[in-house]
Amino acid sequence: MSAIVNLDGRIVPPSEATVSVFDRGFLYGDSVYEVIRTYGLRPFELAAHLDRLAGSAARIGLELPWDAARVAREIAITIDASRGGDEEDPGGAPWNVRERYVRVMMTRGAGELGIDPALAVDPRAILIVRPLHGPPLAAYRDGVKACVVGVQRISPQAMDPAAKTGNYLNSVLAVREARAAGAYEALLLDRDGFVTEGSTSNVFCVRGGRLETPPLAIGILEGVTRGVVLGLAREAGVEVVEARLRPEELAAADEVFITSTVRELLPVTVFGDRVVGEGVPGPMYGRLHALFRARADATAR
Ligand code: PMP
Repeated sequence: MSAIVNLDGRIVPPSEATVSVFDRGFLYGDSVYEVIRTYGLRPFELAAHLDRLAGSAARIGLELPWDAARVAREIAITIDASRGGDEEDPGGAPWNVRERYVRVMMTRGAGELGIDPALAVDPRAILIVRPLHGPPLAAYRDGVKACVVGVQRISPQAMDPAAKTGNYLNSVLAVREARAAGAYEALLLDRDGFVTEGSTSNVFCVRGGRLETPPLAIGILEGVTRGVVLGLAREAGVEVVEARLRPEELAAADEVFITSTVRELLPVTVFGDRVVGEGVPGPMYGRLHALFRARADATAR
């Protein structure tokens, strides 16, 4: 199974899944999107993703072609159409095999060339469902390398970080820099030098038994996984601090991990040129990931 595409409510073969070169999503990144994953082929935290999609659209004044109920229906139809045909993945983490990656995209549409959003006509609704290519089991067991990059997070004054739009060049360039440094994920600083988030993840650290993560106010995406992890930590009685962090503080932390829909919680055991803590996933990571796994497993049942 490669990918199943739903174009404005029609399932079409990937080779026929095309949009106009005049579409504003293509021209200007004038679109919003979500990435959702399944457990047991059921979407995880669907309501939170649909809320964020509506929020992103409202923040950029984009009128969504479908309401939340329609998006949910079309996601279910498209996942159904994707059943079967899974390839073996010997190195895959058990929770990532035979699952789906669901990308929901809504563009402002095409129309006369020009930046003015009033020119837009025919907003598009596009779903791509394909096998989830989550991190391999080894990445959860051994951790990954992250590094701070020179590319800065676009400031909240320049572009609303809470809107998940199709404009991802900032993250593309950050990852490009990280990969050149042999790192798996890029961490972006704000212009005052504080840690914001990863290119497509939120970041956490553990210092003196406390769980710390940058606050939303610093200008980051409100990750769905971040929200779940904070909720689980608080329920478990872990002390949680949402405060600004310097990269040196992260480097000296006992534990660091990143969160995102596709990755769940992933330990960072190398930060730039330094080993984090003992160089292996730490106890807080283990505890929170176990709680997260239990929550995700409940979706699958
Ligand atoms: N920050 C950014 C910039 C992202 O693109 C993502 C991935 N959507 C995240 C954080 C993590 O968000 P989530 O947990 O909702 O996948």
